[in-house]
Amino acid sequence: MPKNAECVKVMVRCRPFNGRETSLGCKSSVEIDSNTNSVQLYKPNSKEVPKRFTYDSVYDGDSKQSDIYNETAFPLVESVLEGYNGTIFAYGQTGCGKTHTMLGVQDDEELKGIIPRAYVQIFGCIDEAKEGVKYLVRCSYLEIYNESILDLLSDKKSKLDVKEDPDKGIFVQGLTGVIVKSTSEVNACMLRGNGRRKTGETAMNKDSSRSHSIFTIYIEQMEEADGDQKIKAGKLHLVDLAGSERQSKTHATGDRLKEAQKINLSLSALGNVISALVDGKAKHIPYRDSKLTRLLQDSLGGNTKTVMIAALSPADDNYDETLSTLRYASRAKSI
Ligand code: ADP
Ligand code: MG
Repeated sequence: MPKNAECVKVMVRCRPFNGRETSLGCKSSVEIDSNTNSVQLYKPNSKEVPKRFTYDSVYDGDSKQSDIYNETAFPLVESVLEGYNGTIFAYGQTGCGKTHTMLGVQDDEELKGIIPRAYVQIFGCIDEAKEGVKYLVRCSYLEIYNESILDLLSDKKSKLDVKEDPDKGIFVQGLTGVIVKSTSEVNACMLRGNGRRKTGETAMNKDSSRSHSIFTIYIEQMEEADGDQKIKAGKLHLVDLAGSERQSKTHATGDRLKEAQKINLSLSALGNVISALVDGKAKHIPYRDSKLTRLLQDSLGGNTKTVMIAALSPADDNYDETLSTLRYASRAKSI
């Protein structure tokens, strides 16, 4: 496996203008240059030299879901099928395309996102497995809200804890794991979890932009050869992060302020872990600073692959948030 820095890939995806931005007459402040994999950000009404950032890959509003998948997720899922762990994150301000990129449009071949495409790749590979190779695939779905872990595949409302086991590695105690045998079974699980996320929203007066969701696919491979049994196990975490908009600006108080602080804490903990990994010289990786990084401890760095997708709006009225997203993403990128 390559060094940490090469295992973390950062890509930026800018969505098209939405109806609101178009009707407000917003101008574009983002220029995507796929030849140099760079993004230029122009400050509105200013002669300031645009800020320039370079990533592993960049995608503009015309990019297709299939391009994003084939170029960024496919190789990562391939290595999970080989027994490595991997994590794909979507980061960015609410409304910029995190869920569109991760989930996309259900039942639409062209517009479906990374998660449903991953099932197709996984079960496609399993269907073609050579004789004597058996697979066991399980999935789980959770959300982290206010630093509490909630199971999206169970009716139990209890908060779960992250544990570590010498054999199992990092795991969430009591989390439902559902054995799935086909793309339709795994998709049904995901939809079930999404349904719970929705009911939770009204009950707890929150929306999905305030929690991190993690859909995990565990793949175990058993190979019988000359009476010997070889086992490989990998897990794929597909993470739709809470909106990164700076919450302090919204004059939040009470519960909202508490939510905002927890979101800021976990996103900055994630940023710190990734930049420590990419840096390669840090002696201490601060995994324990948040539930999110603790839970992903054995799936970030080391023998794992990580893809961070930063989602942007092109509109100039989002300049500040876009700048903050570009900076966050560039911290995660080695120089
Ligand atoms: P987020 O999850 O970051 O809050 P969403 O994924 O829900 O944002 O996107 C907000 C809206 O913009 C949705 O209606 C979505 O369909 C649309 N959208 C996002 N990204 C794209 C894209 N690349 N192409 C077309 N529409 C997009
Ligand atoms: Mg979303």
